[in-house]
Amino acid sequence: MVLHRSWLESANAPEGEFPLNNLPYGVFSVGESDLRCGVAIGDRIVDATGLEAAGFLRADPDADVLDAPYWNDFMELGRAAWSRYRAALASMLAEGADEVVQDQIITHSVPMKDAALHMPFRVSEFTDFYSSRHHATNVGTMFRGAENALPPNWLHIPIGYNGRASSVVVSGTPVTRPHGQIMGPDDATPHFAPSARFDIELEMGAIVGQASDGPISVAEAFDNIFGYVLLNDWSARDIQAWEYQPLGPFQSKATATTISPWIVTAAALEPFRSSTPAREKPLLDYLTEPGPMLYDIALEVGLTPDGGSETVIAETNYNEMYYSAAQQLAHHSSSGCPMRVGDLLGSGTISGPKRENRGSLLELSWGGKEPITLDTGETRSFVEDGDTLTLRGHAQGSGYRVGFGACSGTVRPKR
Ligand code: MN
Repeated sequence: MVLHRSWLESANAPEGEFPLNNLPYGVFSVGESDLRCGVAIGDRIVDATGLEAAGFLRADPDADVLDAPYWNDFMELGRAAWSRYRAALASMLAEGADEVVQDQIITHSVPMKDAALHMPFRVSEFTDFYSSRHHATNVGTMFRGAENALPPNWLHIPIGYNGRASSVVVSGTPVTRPHGQIMGPDDATPHFAPSARFDIELEMGAIVGQASDGPISVAEAFDNIFGYVLLNDWSARDIQAWEYQPLGPFQSKATATTISPWIVTAAALEPFRSSTPAREKPLLDYLTEPGPMLYDIALEVGLTPDGGSETVIAETNYNEMYYSAAQQLAHHSSSGCPMRVGDLLGSGTISGPKRENRGSLLELSWGGKEPITLDTGETRSFVEDGDTLTLRGHAQGSGYRVGFGACSGTVRPKR
């Protein structure tokens, strides 16, 4: 877990998010330019589309795969091609690289501060899970009481629902407060109104990089995951409480899901693997992990009121999950469900054991009964109009970080 040094000095900063060890994949534009595939290194973005077109760095010798504003065609090439490309790019950026190569990179790169970032991949389908034990216990306690907090299936199945790929947006996209059907505890009849309990969910998103047709093992599922993003699954709790039985959330989670702009590859996260916790009930064979398949990724949420300063309202870690993305993907395929390149799997809200580890405002304010106080002195039970919510995450090496870039969204009122 040591820093791989680059000739690009900004990539060697200990607190930087994009050292040579990372090399995350995104899509960028500068001014009115076309959208292009890019790789973050230090304070620059390498124009992967340009390098391919110029013949300096090709993922596939026979076909252009980066001449599109998404990484899906690259993912389709498979794991061996992913490794070759990453190794070739890393050697071009490593300390000691040939000066001609350095010149090529400088020509085919832009300062990150000049670029706009876009969706890094085309989301084929979006599935969201519910796999953090602390989160499920907290929410279950609020909705059903402490005795029935965990549903009877929870320790056996990574519970999920099929979400909407169309609602997944990249960091920076404004989010409009949803209207919906609401039935409060004291209401005699439901009414249609703006959500008064609009919330965030701090999650990780796993991106499926290889298609499958039929059941796959947990080990195969692990190999099929291309990389990860931060994911904020915006949730209208008042709409959710009324609609969720018996088929699960629907309109309460269809407004928007925000992802961070860089795909951090499984390869970059490899040194940070960690294990799921001991099983309270043994899992069925098809869900058993052959080795550690989670990652140690420090996560936080910041809330910035309109015109105010940011307060960090939650800090947790991806290694709190009860089920890994590989287990979720194996379960998803177990019925024979075909999985496609570009499928996005949300981990479920990631909460830890302490109050400050809770990954949603629903839990932080305990259903609105215990509002949190911001550094500005204001209080919050749920998200207010004008609030900006920002997720951040990084894996910590010795003297370097593998970061994700911010996952941010500002809530605006319904027009
Ligand atoms: Mn969710």
